[in-house]
Amino acid sequence: MKGIRVAIVHNQESKSVEVTKRLTTLLEQSENKIDQDNPELVISVGGDGTLLSAFHLYNHKLDQVQFLGVHTGHLGFYTDWRDYELEELVESLCNDHQKSVSYPLLDVRITYANGKSDKHFLALNESTIKRGNRTMVADISIKEDLFEKFRGDGLSISTPTGSTAYNKSVGGAVLHPSINAFQLAEIASLNNRVFRTLGSPIVVGHHEWVKVQLQQSTDYLVTIDQFTIEQEEIDAIYYRIADERIHFASYRHMHFWNRVKDSFIGEE
Ligand code: NAP
Repeated sequence: MKGIRVAIVHNQESKSVEVTKRLTTLLEQSENKIDQDNPELVISVGGDGTLLSAFHLYNHKLDQVQFLGVHTGHLGFYTDWRDYELEELVESLCNDHQKSVSYPLLDVRITYANGKSDKHFLALNESTIKRGNRTMVADISIKEDLFEKFRGDGLSISTPTGSTAYNKSVGGAVLHPSINAFQLAEIASLNNRVFRTLGSPIVVGHHEWVKVQLQQSTDYLVTIDQFTIEQEEIDAIYYRIADERIHFASYRHMHFWNRVKDSFIGEE
């Protein structure tokens, strides 16, 4: 049976370091090979945040790479395997009938007021736009049409798998990851007799895009997952579902809504 090339990304928690050592030994003893530069499978050891880091390390190889998460803390949304199941995991890598699932990513394009070239990013969880200590003012268009003038603290634009992260904290809906769409949620919008926004999150289809045209200023804070984009004279940000998707090696399947229940509600 053919082994595969595996890269491991771990966080600095002592448990993750110890699990990584054990996993490396098991992989080296199997037909699989550790290859940090050119992997077919990227295993993250830690939490969902570690998987996010792994995604950003290898997001230039999304058509060649699958991801798999081992959690060393609590159950995560991107982490299917537990740290005491490493033998079983390595064995399953040699299985010819491996299946993978893929989930949508957010395509983010930033344009600049000073003529600087556009920047392009992929987000696995979300992108947010906020403004220093002033009200953020932006025209939000869906495709070519102006939808609303937003005033408030900011916006969160998330993928379905990111819907359980920051999006949920700002009142967005939890989306099943099989839905090929993205969500726009407001962060503390100003709503009164003068200023009006929809006031609820919207789910935008994969054939549509959202343009956020920002009022001229240099104090915007734009995040892409755990990263922050430098403050520059941003003109507009365009969001759509990316052509690329993230592929997860689904050696393990857990019902999505059970995972949501486990994470946020627990047992009665
Ligand atoms: P962090 O601030 O160290 O961790 C944020 C928490 O979010 C961790 O508990 C992480 O889980 C969890 N998380 C990450 N992705 C998730 C997902 N898809 N569904 C449910 N929970 C998720 O930051 P980080 O670890 O670098 O992760 C960056 C992400 O944190 C951002 O993309 C954003 O979504 C989220 N965040 C949320 C808030 C908020 O809710 N107010 C604030 C800042 C950032 P693990 O412990 O398993 O890693």
